[in-house]
Order: sequence, then C-alpha cells, then structure tokens
Amino acid sequence: MRILIVEDEAGIASFLKQGLEEEAFAVDLADNGMDGLQLAFSGDYDLLLLDWMLPGISGIEICRQFRKEFPETPVIFLTAKDALEETVFGLQSGANDYIKKPFHFEELLERIRVQLRPKSGDHAIFTLGTISLNTETHQVFKNETEVSLTQKEFALLEFLIRNKGKVCRRTRIIESVWDIQFEYNTGIIDVYINALRKKLSLTGSENLIHTVRGVGYIAKD
Ligand code: CA
Repeated sequence: MRILIVEDEAGIASFLKQGLEEEAFAVDLADNGMDGLQLAFSGDYDLLLLDWMLPGISGIEICRQFRKEFPETPVIFLTAKDALEETVFGLQSGANDYIKKPFHFEELLERIRVQLRPKSGDHAIFTLGTISLNTETHQVFKNETEVSLTQKEFALLEFLIRNKGKVCRRTRIIESVWDIQFEYNTGIIDVYINALRKKLSLTGSENLIHTVRGVGYIAKD
C-alpha cells in the first residue's frame, strides 16, 4: 500500500515516513502544497496524509482538487487546528478523517488502517489458498504455521493478495510496494517473489503466485 504525505515540518514528515515504512507501507513525501498536489495526481496512492497549513497550496485545497478526480482514495488531515468549525470545514472538503497534532503514532496508524479496510467482510484478514495474511498484526500463516517475512516481502504479498485474481503489472507492484526514490528496477520484484515462494513453500502444483510472462504476477487460489 502506498501513502503520500504532504507536510512541511521536516521532523514530522521523516518521523511519519520511517514509522509507516516499518509497517510495510511505501511512502512518498512532499514538503509544499504545489509538489503535493502534483504527486497526488500523478501517483497511484492508496491514501493521502495532508497537513493543513502548507506553503503554496493549503491541504484543504489539495483535498478539494484531489477529490474531484479521485473520489474513493481516503484522505486524512494532520492538523494543529482544533476549532470545531475548522474541523467541519476540513471534512466538508472531502477528507475522510483528521487527527490533531500532537498525536501518537499508534493512533494515526489505527486511523489509517480503518480507512484501508475492505468495506465488507473480515476487516484485516486476507487469504490465498492455505495462506492467511493479517494486515493489523502483520502475521502470515501457511497451514496455521506462522511464516516470518521481511517488511517488503509482506508488502508484496499483501499487494498480490488484495488484488487476487487480477494480473499485477510490474510497474504497479513497484509503485505500490516501493517509493518513488527507489531506483527503477523491476528485476527486484523477481528476487522478492522467489523469496516469497521459498518461504511459503509454493512449489509445483501448490504455487499460488503465478508469473505472467512479460507482464507481472497473479495470485490465484
Ligand atoms: Ca504545516
């Protein structure tokens, strides 16, 4: 899952990026409104975290413009403002939620997870054949035995499982699992897929992650 953070306070921005990367998210940063707006429109983001007061264009304005084009993508405001009418104004601009600074990282993480939950069914658990993946505890089980994955392996498996039954192009995988600073090299995906197959013992007829030659990968039960 890929998140865009638009925040001009460098300390908060890097703290959030690091924290979210530890939770296996791919994170891009913009430190002003103009760059934030451009990235929001160009990237394939699963969620936006917007500061309210930004140089250039405000978070509210980014949210308004973004909403017209991307009605489904969740937006959460980070704001020092706490007056009720301003909060209402923020939500009216199309944001899904807001969190007041200073906040605890765990609280923000929980709000992000709430926004990224599937709308129906079990909230946190995704399955692929005998594999189950819990996005909240970050555990992966194969036939009830826990399998230990790195953050990137987890993020890659999560992406494939969330898109189960659909062909995932290499470029989309890179965009979702790695951030824009990542040197563009889709060969890295193969390395991670091989590691996943090995750790999950996906061999022969039991392979649940299939290669689509020249295109990418597909997860199928
Ligand atoms: Ca600010």
